[in-house]
Amino acid sequence: MNKTNRYENKSILGIFAHPDDETSGAGCTFTKFARMGAKITVITATRGELGTLGTGNLSVTREQLPAVREGELRKVLSLFGAKPPILLGYKDQEVQLERTAVISDKLLHYMKFIEPDVVVTFGPQGISKHSDHIAIHKGAIDAFNNYKFEVSKTVNLLYIAIPELVAKEFNLDIDGPETQPNIYMPAREYLDVKIKALRTYKSQEDAQEFAEWLENSTQYHETFKVVGLDADQSLLFEELLDG
Ligand SMILES: [Zn+2]
Repeated sequence: MNKTNRYENKSILGIFAHPDDETSGAGCTFTKFARMGAKITVITATRGELGTLGTGNLSVTREQLPAVREGELRKVLSLFGAKPPILLGYKDQEVQLERTAVISDKLLHYMKFIEPDVVVTFGPQGISKHSDHIAIHKGAIDAFNNYKFEVSKTVNLLYIAIPELVAKEFNLDIDGPETQPNIYMPAREYLDVKIKALRTYKSQEDAQEFAEWLENSTQYHETFKVVGLDADQSLLFEELLDG
């Protein structure tokens, strides 16, 4: 079996709050497995209405921003080899106003349709403690706990996780499962794609700063916590798809 079709029957679903969350958390991973044939789908809750209004020579109005960020997201997903995004249509910083059961129902609907083998989302503190990230975490875990009993295959839920030392470097005030990754995905081979994707989010200062940091990093891993697996039991991402 060659490299491009090894995972052609496999499906990975990312569930995030804003355009660019998927790139920061899993851009290399999505690219790698898309190139190996897996179907990659990303659900994004908002169009990032409250983000920054441009970097470099780009300057957009608040009114233009949602369409600009949606356009950036679409470009980035095609760069990864992923499907076009599924947008839930919430407004930035308003996801927490929705009842978890409503978010969960929407996500379960898509899970049943997409039938992912692996779902990647935020952990309980949402990495940055952003209220949208936390609201999406709650909806996603609830949906996944229903979904896993509706499918006959083994499915796994992953949180974006950052080793404690790296979290400190980025001044992230998190603890618990999100600082205890048990998947270290070697990402150097796909780092150019992730940097290009972050640069594509030209409206967003954070994305540009992260791109600059990555341009100066010598080795890089994307790291995840497999829900239900102890921190000392590390495994390869491939093992979740090979089973
Ligand atoms: Zn976000």
